Amino acid sequence: MEILAKDFSLQEKLNILADAAKYDVACTSSGSDRRGKKGFLGNTVACGICHSFASDGRCISLLKILLTNECIFDCKYCLNRASNDRPRATFTPEEICTLVVEFYRRNYIEGLFLSSGVLKSPTYTMEQIYRTIYLLRTRYHFRGYIHVKAIPGAPEELITKVGFLADRMSVNIELPTKESLRALAPHKKPENLIKPIRQIQNGIIGHRLSIGKSPQMERSTSNRYLRHSIFEENPYQRLETRQTVPSVGKSMPPKLPKDTSFVPAGQSTQMIIGASGESDLQLLSTTQKLYQQYDLKRVFFSAYVPLNEDSALPTLDTAPPLLREHRLYQADWLLRFYGFHADELLSTDHPNFNILLDPKCDWALRHLELFPVEVNTASYAKLLRVPGIGTKSAQRIVKARKQGYLDFSHLKKIGVVLKRAKYFITCNGKMMYRIPIEENFITRQLTGEDSRQAWAIEHPQTYRQLSLFDDFHFSRGTTTEDYQKSISGQI
Ligand code: SF4
Repeated sequence: MEILAKDFSLQEKLNILADAAKYDVACTSSGSDRRGKKGFLGNTVACGICHSFASDGRCISLLKILLTNECIFDCKYCLNRASNDRPRATFTPEEICTLVVEFYRRNYIEGLFLSSGVLKSPTYTMEQIYRTIYLLRTRYHFRGYIHVKAIPGAPEELITKVGFLADRMSVNIELPTKESLRALAPHKKPENLIKPIRQIQNGIIGHRLSIGKSPQMERSTSNRYLRHSIFEENPYQRLETRQTVPSVGKSMPPKLPKDTSFVPAGQSTQMIIGASGESDLQLLSTTQKLYQQYDLKRVFFSAYVPLNEDSALPTLDTAPPLLREHRLYQADWLLRFYGFHADELLSTDHPNFNILLDPKCDWALRHLELFPVEVNTASYAKLLRVPGIGTKSAQRIVKARKQGYLDFSHLKKIGVVLKRAKYFITCNGKMMYRIPIEENFITRQLTGEDSRQAWAIEHPQTYRQLSLFDDFHFSRGTTTEDYQKSISGQI
């Protein structure tokens, strides 16, 4: 196998390594709040600066690159696998710093998302990542958002050092079961993937407790339902096995600002959808476990784009399952903010989401015995389960009804999507129209609307990562209202 490596210019490296990073979707920047400071460059805002999304929902205001697209491993689904003959390039840490600072000054980016193939060894690669963000934070005084990958198999000490400099870290588990990992990524051992996730989680818990916060990551005030099994047991139990944070090596002592924290924006992961044969139930159950056991901030899904010919993979002409990815994102919001569990939404008899209906409508139609819900008396938790009532409108209903009874005109003003909710609610005991609560009838009404949106998702005009030079503030592409809602969580 020939590795096509040569001396590239910085621009050529950028072309190669930004393009190679586009299949990694595990990046958003919410959750980290740090003010700008005299003498430093950049700042982060907990709920703002990096919330620009491409039409396919991907975050676009970070410089998203690989340190290298060389890799000693050979995961079957990956464009950068060792057995592919491709131009290979590697940034030096100094080159990445130059790019970040220059792009930041030009207002192209607000932060860095740095991933990598495995160059020489996990330890060597993690050292290069550490050196990059160490330089950015200390020599260039960059206080903007940084999201980096933890390379499985790298020493704990190195991952810890990176955790003190990064806002978010992620370890991509890529595939939801050990079996598919063995079949498609035989070099990756499940225990090597889980170990850094647990280590980062313990570091986050330790840091949060040390500053008087609850050990559990905050996601939303409405996230009261997805119980965290580890915290239900005993939040301190896991700390007993927590590794003591080792001191930083003498060769590169960090001079950190006083407000140093450990991975303050939490950790995330990514799973590929459609490269292996798992059902949506398996994918969603793994997602739920990752939230419950490792308190991840986000699980991202990436529709598999066939890039390599292999008998273990879908054929090259297989379309990326964008609608399936979309349904999983919708279900992910239902887990995190709406009080649903994977085994309510899907079962072994019903293991995949309905392509024609969003998961909440699909669930409601299978549980018509629970409807209609009276909006003037139903609990917040019950309101959340009504199709067309999102977290914001449920909160507004609970607040507004203290002033008096609500009718359908009030609900419309509040933001309830009546074209969906009208089949499932009453106001003062009355439905909006004389509507039969009957599965086939409601399904027919709802699928017309949803199938148009489904078609738009399955037929995007583009499937590409935005260029740094696209004017992302003004062009929104083919985003549908419903798709935005799966990103913003109002379902
Ligand atoms: S380790 Fe990562 S970069 Fe290397 S082949 Fe596997 S998925 Fe690709």
